[in-house]
This record gives sequence, structure tokens and C-alpha cells, in this order.
Amino acid sequence: MKFFRKISRLIFHYWGRFKFHLFESDNLIINWSNFDKGILLCFFGAFCQVSAIKWYLLSYYSEDNRVWINHDFFFVRFTTVVVTLIIFIGMIVLSHRYKHNAKFRQFIAYFSPIFFGTVMIYAGYTVGMYSPATIAGFVNIVLIGLVFYSRKIIYGIAMFASIFTVIISYLTFNGFIRYAPVFSDNLTHSEFYLNPFWIKSMAEVYLPILLTSILFFEILLSQWRRREMKIKKMSQTDALTNVFNRRYIGEQLSTLENKKKVTYAVVLLDLDYFKKINDDYGHETGDAVLQRVATILCTTTRIQDVVGRFGGEEFILILKDQNLQQAIEIAERCRKIIEQEEFELETGEILKTSASFGVALSEVNTKKEQTIRMADRALYLAKQQGRNQVRHYLELNLKPAV
Ligand code: GH3
Ligand code: MG
Ligand code: MG
Repeated sequence: MKFFRKISRLIFHYWGRFKFHLFESDNLIINWSNFDKGILLCFFGAFCQVSAIKWYLLSYYSEDNRVWINHDFFFVRFTTVVVTLIIFIGMIVLSHRYKHNAKFRQFIAYFSPIFFGTVMIYAGYTVGMYSPATIAGFVNIVLIGLVFYSRKIIYGIAMFASIFTVIISYLTFNGFIRYAPVFSDNLTHSEFYLNPFWIKSMAEVYLPILLTSILFFEILLSQWRRREMKIKKMSQTDALTNVFNRRYIGEQLSTLENKKKVTYAVVLLDLDYFKKINDDYGHETGDAVLQRVATILCTTTRIQDVVGRFGGEEFILILKDQNLQQAIEIAERCRKIIEQEEFELETGEILKTSASFGVALSEVNTKKEQTIRMADRALYLAKQQGRNQVRHYLELNLKPAV
């Protein structure tokens, strides 16, 4: 009773870990330690043994199927399956117990794939070295192995399996051993591939391997997709403020530039006397101000507008399908909110800031660099005229730079 309680607690423990690794951790299953992979393999091995035990018992104790089973071999094979199951469970239990022992971790990392490989090769021999279940299982396991394990180990085991196959074939064809010893002569000497029991047996032997490989690849692919999305987001986002970074802004502007007929507004804004905030209150407070300004910009613009950090304390808005007047209005709204925002410091002191804005509208066929330059000049004008204001490119009285 105590033993079963311990086993069920272990299963819950590993299920929790499994779930954590699959759904919460960023660690791809292929990057697990060889020790963790070894334990996973033990679970897989144990699952295959349980499935084999079920198949044996159902076949042996069914009146219809008994005739197809080799009774002389039954006890040998049944015992090996049970002993193998005990070994796999033992390895899981010991791994739990000695998980901090470096030598034991290394032992499990190497022993479990070798033991698992040997067990599978032997199982393949018992149902027939050239049976569909053995061949499909071999291909599946080698494929999973190549994805999840170190190449050296897998090629080693595959080579061992090939040598084993040649030896077994030699012994079988020269009459030293039986082919597919779990099945009776009644089966092997008949047109066994038409025998429903044999067909069902093949499916049952292969099923746990197939299910496990589907599960593995499904896990791997979903982890991979999740990581891809995360990496993509990281490559587009500014780490401090969580708005888009300069690289992504450049890509967005190039896309807009290539859609020849689209016009868009660019708003550049730069915080006023920001250096003083850093100097007076420290860099961390400066960072917090940048984060707050980024949030204000995101909540004040529309969902289709792009907000990015263009430089240190300089932000950019790309406003699609907006005319100059609308763009100026959005910039003005942002300016007012930033101006009114109060930052409460730990000392209880209230800190206020402001920003200067430059707005430019892309003409059809203008290069993105030109539009940005116009916005930058308008921003410079805003700074020159006393800061905390919005200026636009038509006020520059300059011909657009060629
Ligand atoms: P102006 O009104 O003319 O823009 O004055 P300013 O002080 O804002 O301009 P200046 O370009 O001299 O200073 C910008 C400062 O922004 C300098 C730099 O230390 C600070 N800065 C740039 N990036 C960061 C950052 O990531 N975090 C913090 N805290 N400060 C930054
Ligand atoms: Mg500034
Ligand atoms: Mg600046």
C-alpha cells in the first residue's frame, strides 16, 4: 500500500514537472538535460511494457487467441516484460531519489537509452525482426532519438540494432532459433499476414510507439512555435519600454514606402530636459519616466498606429491614413497628457515632464528618410521655440530635401 502511494506521488510529481516543462518553461524539450531525457525514456519504456503485458494477458487468456501464441515461450517472454517494467520503474524511483548525484545522473543519461534500445530490439525479435511493427517502430524510435538525443548515442544504438538484426537473421535462416517466437507454429506456418490476430497484434505492438512519437513531435512543434513567436516579439520590441524598437519601425516604414499609394504621418517626440531628470533623480527614475511616456503614447493612439522608441528619450508614432490636421491633433493630445502626468517619487515629491513634437506627412513616392528628416526638423523647431509644443513640417518654410 505504502509502495503504491509512493508510486502515485511520484507519478504526480513527474506529471507536474512534465507540465511545467511543456507549458510554462522556455526550455525546449530537445534542450533538456540528458538525465531528464533519460527519465522520460524510462516512462516511455514502462508504458511500452504495460502495453505489452496487456497484450500478452489478453491474448493468452482468450480462448480464440491462445492457439496463435507460443506457450513454450510465453513464460520466458512474460517474465522479461515484467522484469523490464520493474527495472524502468526502479530507474524512475532511483532517479528521483538520487537526482542530485552527478555520477548517477550521468549513469541514467547513458544507461537509459542503451537499455531502452536493447529492450526494443529484443521486443522486435520476439514479434518478428521483419514484421511491420518492428520496422515501423525502429524507424520511429531512431527518428525521435535523432531529434531528442545526442547523435553519437543514437547512431551507436542503431548500429548495435543492425548487427543484432544480422545475427538474428543468420540464426533464424539456419534453423538455430525460431522466427517471431511469441507466435505459435500455427500462426507462423500459415498465411499469417491474413490472420486478424496477427494484424491486430502488429497494430497493438506499434501503437504505443506511434502515440508517443506523435506526442513528442506535437510537444516539440508547439514549443518551437511558442519560442519563434517570443523571439520575433523580442526582435521587434524595445526591452525597456515595451514599444516597438527602431529596427521594426524601419521595417514598417519600408513596407509603407513600398505600398506606393499609401500616405502616412510621422510624429517624432523628444522629452524636454530629460538629462536633468537623470541628473537630479537618477537613471532609474529616468527609466520609469520613459516607460510611463511609452504607455501614454500607446493608450492615446489608435490600435493601427505604430508606437516606437526611436532613440534614448525620443519616440516615434507612425499614423496610417491620417491627414496632417489629424496627426497634429493626436500629437497635441499626447503632449497635453504627458504635460499633465504626475510621477510620484518615493520621497513623495511630484515630478513632471514635457515633450516636444515634430509632425510630417509622407507625400506619395517620398522616401521614408525624407519624411523622418522633415519630422525631425519640425521637432527641432519645437525645441527652438521653447519646447513642450507641436510643430509641423509645413512651418519649416523649407523645400523638402531632395
Ligand atoms: P532637450 O530638451 O534638448 O531634449 O534636452 P535633453 O536633456 O532631453 O537632451 P539630451 O539629448 O542632452 O539628453 C538626453 C538624455 O537622455 C541623455 C541620456 O542620458 C538620457 N537617456 C538616453 N537613453 C536613456 C535611457 O534608456 N534611460 C535613461 N534613464 N536615460 C536615458
Ligand atoms: Mg530630450
Ligand atoms: Mg534627444
